[in-house]
Amino acid sequence: MSTAANNLGPTSSVVALCGGVGGAKLALGLNRLIGDRLTVVVNTGDDFEHLGLHISPDIDTVMYTLSGLSDLERGWGRADETWNFMASLEQLGGAAWFRLGDRDLAMHIERTRAMRGGASLTDFTSSMARKLGISATILPMSDHRVETVVDTDDGQLPFQEYFVRLQCKPVLKHLTFRNAASAVATPAVLQSLRDPDLAAVIVCPSNPYLSIDPILAVPGIRDALDKIAAPIIAVSPLIAGQAVKGPTAKIMAELGVPADSISIARHYPFLSGLVLDEADRKDAGKIDLPTHVTQTLMKSVDDRDRLAAACLEFASALATKE
Ligand code: GDP
Repeated sequence: MSTAANNLGPTSSVVALCGGVGGAKLALGLNRLIGDRLTVVVNTGDDFEHLGLHISPDIDTVMYTLSGLSDLERGWGRADETWNFMASLEQLGGAAWFRLGDRDLAMHIERTRAMRGGASLTDFTSSMARKLGISATILPMSDHRVETVVDTDDGQLPFQEYFVRLQCKPVLKHLTFRNAASAVATPAVLQSLRDPDLAAVIVCPSNPYLSIDPILAVPGIRDALDKIAAPIIAVSPLIAGQAVKGPTAKIMAELGVPADSISIARHYPFLSGLVLDEADRKDAGKIDLPTHVTQTLMKSVDDRDRLAAACLEFASALATKE
C-alpha cells in the first residue's frame, strides 16, 4: 500500500461505486492508496445464469483487477488464460457466444456451488476476495437478483444478449432494472455508506447507464447517498466526448443526451464534485458543481494511483469547504 499524499485520517473509509473494466481501474488505484479502508460496491445488474452457472461479470473484473490476476490487454477475464473448455464446448455444439476461460471457469463453478449451498453473493464474494489476498471489501450492490433489461429497436433484450452477443449494436431506447423494486440493499452496503468515518464516496468512471444506475436502483442506496455528509464525487467516463471503451457515448446519443461531462454531472444529482479530463477543461465552467480537471486516462498503474490520489485530495478539499 502506498503512503502517497492523501488527507484521510487513519480510520477514515472510502466507498467506490463501480461497474466493470473502467471502474475497476480506479478502484485498483484507490486500493493501492488506502488498502482495507476501501469498500467497492459493485454492479450486479449484468449477472446472469449461463450453462447452469451464476456469472457475475463486474464482480469478477473487480476481483481479478484488485488481485493482479486480470488480463490487461483483453480488458476482461484472467491473464494467462487458456480456452480448452470453450473449444470442447463448441465442438459439442454448446453455446459459445459468451467466452469462459479455463481459469475463469473455476470462479463461476465455485460461486454456483456456494450459492446453491445457501451462501449469499455477499458472503461468497468476501470469501473469494480474502482468498485472493484483496485488502478492500468488495460488495455486490444487492443479494437479490436485479437484472438489467435493455429495450432496443430489436425488442427487449437480456443484458448479455445486448452487450456480448449483439455487441451493443441495437439502438437502446430504455433500460429496466428488473426486480429492483423488490430488492433490498444489503446490511453491508448500507453500513459502508453510514460509516461515521466515511470520508468520501467516489463514483468510478463506469458507464452511468449500464453500471452505476443499477446500483442506484437498489432501494436504500440512493436514500443513503442523499443522507451522506461526506463529499460524493464522480470521475467522468468520457474524454473529449468519447468513451475510452464501450458504448457510453453511443448510448447517450441514442437517449438524446449530449455525450459530454456536463451531462455526466447532471446524471448524478447527488454529487458534490466532478473530476473531468484535461481535454474537457472547457466544460468545467458550464458545470454547476465544483470540478477538478486532470488527466483521467488510466493506461499504467501509475495513472491509476495518480487519479486515485487526485480524487481523494479533491474530496478532502470539498470536505474542508463544507
Ligand atoms: P464495463 O462494465 O466493463 O463496461 O465497465 P465500466 O462500466 O466500469 O466502464 C466503462 C466506462 O469506463 C466507459 O464509459 C469508458 O469510457 C470508461 N473508462 C474506461 N477506461 C477509462 C479511463 O482510463 N479513464 C476514464 N476517464 N474512463 C475510462
